[in-house]
Amino acid sequence: MHKKTINQLAQGLRSGDFTSVELTQHFLQRIRQYPELNAYITITEDSALQAAGAADQRLATGDTGLLTGIPIAHKDIFCTLGVKTSCGSKILDNFIAPYNATVVEKFKLAGAVTLGKVNMDEFAMGSSNETSFYGPVRNPWDTQTVPGGSSGGSAAAVAAGLAVAATGTDTGGSIRQPAAFCGITGLKPTYGRVSRYGMIAYASSLDQGGPMTRSAEDAAILLQTMAGFDPKDSTSADVAVPDYLASLDQPLAGLKIGLPKEFFAEGLDNGIASVLQTALAEYQKLGAELVDISMPNLNVAIPTYYVIACAESSANLSRYDGVRFGHRCENPADLTDLYTRSRGEGFGKEVKRRILMGTYALSAGYYDAYYLKAQKVRRLISDDFQKALAQVDVIMSPVAPTTAFGIGAKMDDPIAMYLADIYTIAINLAGLPAMSIPAGFSGGMPVGLQLIGKHFAEDRLLNIAHQYQQVTDWHQQTPKL
Ligand code: GLN
Repeated sequence: MHKKTINQLAQGLRSGDFTSVELTQHFLQRIRQYPELNAYITITEDSALQAAGAADQRLATGDTGLLTGIPIAHKDIFCTLGVKTSCGSKILDNFIAPYNATVVEKFKLAGAVTLGKVNMDEFAMGSSNETSFYGPVRNPWDTQTVPGGSSGGSAAAVAAGLAVAATGTDTGGSIRQPAAFCGITGLKPTYGRVSRYGMIAYASSLDQGGPMTRSAEDAAILLQTMAGFDPKDSTSADVAVPDYLASLDQPLAGLKIGLPKEFFAEGLDNGIASVLQTALAEYQKLGAELVDISMPNLNVAIPTYYVIACAESSANLSRYDGVRFGHRCENPADLTDLYTRSRGEGFGKEVKRRILMGTYALSAGYYDAYYLKAQKVRRLISDDFQKALAQVDVIMSPVAPTTAFGIGAKMDDPIAMYLADIYTIAINLAGLPAMSIPAGFSGGMPVGLQLIGKHFAEDRLLNIAHQYQQVTDWHQQTPKL
C-alpha cells in the first residue's frame, strides 16, 4: 500500500479494497518499524486514527475528494492545533500550537489524515537535517548519508513509505534538495502561491511551502489543496488557481528548455552531469528543444541569499524571548538574564550563527554596505531569470552539486554546507516556482533534475514533470528497507 499513488489509493478506498483506518494503521506500523530513520518528531496516532474513521464515514456517503482518507505528514514548521510544533528547535520543544496553519487546515478540510510532524533542520536552517534538536534524519537509500535539508524528515518519510506525501518548505532549496537526495518529487511554488499563515517564519521574503510526493501527479493533487489566496497572509497572492490535473497530459512538442551555462560548469559531479544529459535527451525525444542561455549574476546568489536570509531571520527570531512562548531559563536574575539565557539555551549553534550574521548586516553603518547591496543584487538575479524565461518555457539544471553526502561530512564547515544549495537558492531570490524530479542514480544514490518555471506557472512545471514520468520510471524506484 505504501508504494501506491494517491489516485490508486483513492480508488482502493472507493472500491472497498481497504479502509482509511487500515491504510493509516499500515503507515503507523511502518513508522514504528523504522525508528532509526528519525523521520518523525511527533506521531499523532490517536488523532490520525480518528480522522481516518471520519474519512471512512465520508467515503461511505460519497462526499469526498482525492485526499479524503489519505495519510500524510506535515513538516514540523506548520502550526498544528493541540500538537507540539517545534520547528526542530529546543526553544519550541514545549510549544503546543493554539491554531492550525492555513495549509494544515486545508488538508484537514480535504479529509487527509495527519500521521504526525516530521523532522527538519532547526528553524529550517540547514541542508542536511543535522541541525535539528531531535538529531539527524537518515537517508533511506543509505543510512550513513543525510537526507538533505531542511525538509529532510518529509523527504525521508515519503521515500521510505512512512507517509503517502508530506508538506515541506523551501527558503533556499529545502524542498528540492532533500527531494533530490531521497529520490522523490518536490515542488517549491511561486512566492505567494501557498499561504505562509501559521508556517513558522525563517526568512519571510523567501519562505514558501509546497508538496513532497512520489510523483508529479501526486504533487498536483497536493498543490491543488495547498494553493490559493489567504486573507490571513498579507504576502499571499490573489491569483486564480488552475486545475493542476487537467494540464498534466499536454504533449511537450515544441517545448523550449533553457540550459544556463553557469549551472553546468565546474563543481558539478560527473555522475550527476551524465544523468542530466540522459534526462535532457529524453526530453528531446518528447519533442523539446534545448537552448543555451546565460545568467551572469548567478555566481553571487549564495552570498546575497545569506545576507538577506540571515537579516530576516534575526528579526523573525527575536520573538523567542522566553516570555511569550517556548523555552524559558530557570530562575532568571532579571529581564536581560531571562532573554540571554532563554535564547542561549534554546537555540542551536547554526541558528545563533545566523542571528549574529543577520544582526551585523542590519546594524547601523553596515546596513547600506550589506543589506541594501544584497537587495540590489537580488534584483539583478531576478532580472537574469526574467530575461531567460522570456526566451524559453522552462529552465533545467541540477538540483545539487553532489548526491547525498555522509552524516557529519560538512558539519564543521558551514561554507561547504551552504554550497549544497548553489543551484536552488537563486530561484527563491527571484520568487519563481521550481521542481525537483528523480532522474536517475549516481553511485547508487538518487539524482534530481530541477525544472524552473515562470511566475505562477506551476501547472506547466507539473505537466513537464509528469510527461517525463510517463516515459521513465525513476520516480517509482524505492529504497530497499
Ligand atoms: N540550506 C539553506 C539554508 O540553510 C536553505 C534552507 C531552506 O530552504 N529552508 O538557509
